[in-house]
Amino acid sequence: MAEEKNVWEMTQNRLDKTMRILELKPGIIKYLREPRKVLEVAVTVKMDNKDIDIFKGCRVQHNTNRGPAKGGIRYHQDVNVDEVKALAMLMTWKCSLAGIPFGGAKGGIAVDPTKLSLRELENLTRRYTYEILTMIGPEKDIPAPDVGTNAQVMAWIMDTYSIAKGHMVPGVVTGKPIPLGGSQGREEATSRGAVYTILSALKVLDINASNLTCAVQGFGNVGGYAAKILFDLGFKIVALSDIGGAVYNKKGIDPYKVAEHLKEKGTVAGYSGAESLDPKEFFSVKCDIMVPAALENVITAKNAAGIKARILAEGANAPTTPEADEILNDNKIFVIPDILCNSGGVTVSYFEWVQGNDAYFWSKRKVNLQLREIMEKAFYETYDYSQKNKLDMRNAAMALAVLRVAEAMRLRGVYP
Ligand code: GLU
Repeated sequence: MAEEKNVWEMTQNRLDKTMRILELKPGIIKYLREPRKVLEVAVTVKMDNKDIDIFKGCRVQHNTNRGPAKGGIRYHQDVNVDEVKALAMLMTWKCSLAGIPFGGAKGGIAVDPTKLSLRELENLTRRYTYEILTMIGPEKDIPAPDVGTNAQVMAWIMDTYSIAKGHMVPGVVTGKPIPLGGSQGREEATSRGAVYTILSALKVLDINASNLTCAVQGFGNVGGYAAKILFDLGFKIVALSDIGGAVYNKKGIDPYKVAEHLKEKGTVAGYSGAESLDPKEFFSVKCDIMVPAALENVITAKNAAGIKARILAEGANAPTTPEADEILNDNKIFVIPDILCNSGGVTVSYFEWVQGNDAYFWSKRKVNLQLREIMEKAFYETYDYSQKNKLDMRNAAMALAVLRVAEAMRLRGVYP
C-alpha cells in the first residue's frame, strides 16, 4: 500500500519547485501555497441501528482567481484535511492547464462508504451538504464525484441544496445522473481524456501504437473505463489490480470479463483468465504503458526503479512521490502528469455546467470531440513548453498552470 508521506507537504514542495523555475515574487508564492478557505465539519448521521455516528468531513477551496472553485468529493476511510488541501490545490492547476474557467476545490469525508447502507449513505450525504451549504453554489464552488462517490451522491447533494434554496439548482454539482441534467460521457470522461493524452504521447515519442501492452492499477471509475477504452482501441491489457489483489496474463486480459468477475466477487483478484500477481510486483510488470488509477503516493522511491514502462499515465491524483519522479526521469520514462492526464473528468464537468446554464444538451459524439480537442491542446501546450524550456512534463505542466493563475491574480489585483 501507499508509503506514509504527507501529500500536502509534497504538493506544496512541488509548487515551490515550480515557483523557483518561474522566479515568481515571494508574495505570490505565499498566496498560492495556501488554500483560500477550509471548512471542517462533523457530519452527524442517524444509523440504521438508531444510534448516531459522527464522521469528520471538510471542504477546501484552494483558489478562485480564474473562476468558481471546482472539485470532487471523496468518501474514503483515510480522508483527512491535509489530503483534501493537496487535492484542492491540484484541481487549481488541473483546471488552469486544461484552460477551463474554474479554480480548485475538494471535499471529503473520512468514511468507508462500502460499510454503510444506502439509507445511511444518503443521510450522510445530505447532512454533509447541509454543513457545507454556505460554501458551495453554482457560481462559487461546484462539487463532483471522486473516489467513493458517484452520480447518485451528486443527485442527493443537488436535491438537498435545491430544497434549501426553494428551487432546483442543477448547476451546484456536476457528474449528475443524465435525467437530472448530467452530461453524456461524464462517467468515463477521466479515462477517455487519459487515453487521449496517451495517444498524443505515442505520437510525440514516435511509438507505433500496434501491439502495445498496458497495466492498469485500480479498477474503479477511472481504471475500469481506462482498461476498457484501451482494450477497445486494440491495446493489450497485461495486468490489472485493485484493493483485493492483482492479476497478470502476458497474452492479454479482457477487462469486460474482469468487470463481470468483479460484480460477483467484489475484486479483480481470482479472475480465472489470468494468473494472480503479488500486488507488490505490480509496478515492475513488463509493459509499454503503466496507468496508476487509484490513490496517491503509490509510486515511491522503493518501487520506481522497477518500472519498465515507456509511458506512465497518471490517471490518479498524485500517485508519484517527488523522489520517485527523479528516478523515473533518470530512467527516461515519459510521465504524463496527473494534472494533465486526468483532467478529462473536470473538463466534461465543465461541459455539463455549460450545458446546464444553456439548458441545451450535447450528443455524446460532441462531448467526446470537444474533450479530445481540449486534452490534445493541453498536451501539446505542455509538451512544447517542456521542449522549449528543457523541463520534464510534470514541471512544464505545473509551470504553465501556475503562470496562468498568477496572471489572473495580477489582473484582478488585491482587495482592498
Ligand atoms: N474528482 C475529479 C478530479 O479529481 C473530477 C472533479 C470535477 O469534475 O470537478 O479531477
